[in-house]
Amino acid sequence: MELARLISGWPDEGATYMFDVVILGGGPAGYLAAERLGHAGKQVLVIEKAFLGGTCLNVGCIPTKTLLNSAKTYVHAKEADRFGIHCGDVAYDWGAIQKWKTEVVEKLRSGIAGMMEKYKVTVLEGTGELLAPPRGKDGGRVRIAMKDGTIREEQGRTVLISTGSVPAIPPIPGVQNNEHLVDSTGLLNVTSVPASLTVIGGGVIGVEFASLFASMGSKVTIIEMLDEIVPFMDREQAPILRRAMKSVDFRLGCRVEKIEGSRVYFRAKDGSPAQIDADLILMAVGRRPQLQGWGAEQVGLDMGRQGIIVDDRMRTNISGIWAAGDVTGKSLLAHSAYRMGEVAVTDILAYLDRLDGKDEKRRDNRMRYDAIPWAVYGIPEAAGVGITEQDAEQKGIAVKKASLPMRISGRFAAENTFAAPGACKVIADAGTGRILGVHAVGAYASEFIWGAAALIEQELRISDVQELIFPHPTVSEMIRDVVWTM
Ligand code: NAD
Repeated sequence: MELARLISGWPDEGATYMFDVVILGGGPAGYLAAERLGHAGKQVLVIEKAFLGGTCLNVGCIPTKTLLNSAKTYVHAKEADRFGIHCGDVAYDWGAIQKWKTEVVEKLRSGIAGMMEKYKVTVLEGTGELLAPPRGKDGGRVRIAMKDGTIREEQGRTVLISTGSVPAIPPIPGVQNNEHLVDSTGLLNVTSVPASLTVIGGGVIGVEFASLFASMGSKVTIIEMLDEIVPFMDREQAPILRRAMKSVDFRLGCRVEKIEGSRVYFRAKDGSPAQIDADLILMAVGRRPQLQGWGAEQVGLDMGRQGIIVDDRMRTNISGIWAAGDVTGKSLLAHSAYRMGEVAVTDILAYLDRLDGKDEKRRDNRMRYDAIPWAVYGIPEAAGVGITEQDAEQKGIAVKKASLPMRISGRFAAENTFAAPGACKVIADAGTGRILGVHAVGAYASEFIWGAAALIEQELRISDVQELIFPHPTVSEMIRDVVWTM
């Protein structure tokens, strides 16, 4: 990626420029905010130490979904006889699959670079470090250690921190300098499919990679500390997902004690010692906000246990500095980061208006967390939004619930067979009938869950949803079918 010299007067390499907004980190929160701010005519600098698009585009959402699509295609081809299609011997070419993944990532990345150009956003490739916060008309100072080895300093009237997150490495003996141990980034780039894979952590990453490699023929074991995989899923839904991943060996309620080379030693649920050997071990026990290496301490930002403390406008404790995305630790999802970035943009624009003595009308834009949909792109996929049954219990909310198997959906059965696992569940307030949660396991769940989020955001009740018209035949109709049983 080239240094974009888009602002007037940039050519003097030694000079320091004042931007309206300096953004640390070009992931979903950062690049979307840059796009919106550029669209609003602001002069924006994005500093990115790796690649535009962040974890999501380069080593997260997009490459995993690309690989998972190849895995799904492979599985479908093997099962195609059931649908009257004879594919003969089905084989895959891992090198070609990886090549396609790289092509997708690179094209999308250049798409983001194109948007930066379109909105006249300056992008610098390097590591940014905050030296001083903005003070009134004085800009916040940022030092940039450029990838080419040079050092520059720039200023921003405002600063947005969107430095993302990194994989969490638990203090388990044997995790350091272990060539058999990889994180999700390492596993994405393997040059061949491992014959066997041990996954530590049965969360989102664990399930997605287990689905991928089990589909490609690896012998996969998931070791999960808790009694069920994907702990935030509804308690009736997670077992459906787990049982659907037939070829994966699940070791639930197990505590990993140490790793020696390719062998993981753990204590099984009954307390007995156990061990598993595999070609590769994936560590997928969560991610933590990227709080170091960019000068947080120099400017005195307030940090909580989860990440940078922000209010519902994404303001930090320091006037002129906002934070958005994983670095806040609030919701480690790309789509949450997009929204947080947008909320920050509205407030940054209002702040710049005030500095410039302008009085623009801007909408009150606040971050809300209770209707953020999530999706786990396993094979099959799962998605949900709002509260689960166990959340309702914990919060003391009286609810009514209903669930139906996916096979009652004509579209689902036609495309997946009547034997395919899956279910859709709706949770509503027992008194008012307001929809509080929607959860689904099965194909298309990730595509229709946004509609369920809209039902929750708009505070619709069971009777309101019963009157909505869903397109037929679609799997999304399951929501309507379920609410009619409530
Ligand atoms: P996660 O928090 O989803 O799951 C971690 C799992 O590891 C949990 O089930 C936890 O109980 C278990 N665990 C923790 N310590 C353990 C130990 N010592 N031994 C065994 N199990 C242990 O984290 P993740 O799967 O690593 O994902 C990281 C982040 O990335 C998450 O916040 C996730 O939302 C995000 N992500 C999202 C998507 C998506 O939206 N589809 C995909 C990938 C990652």
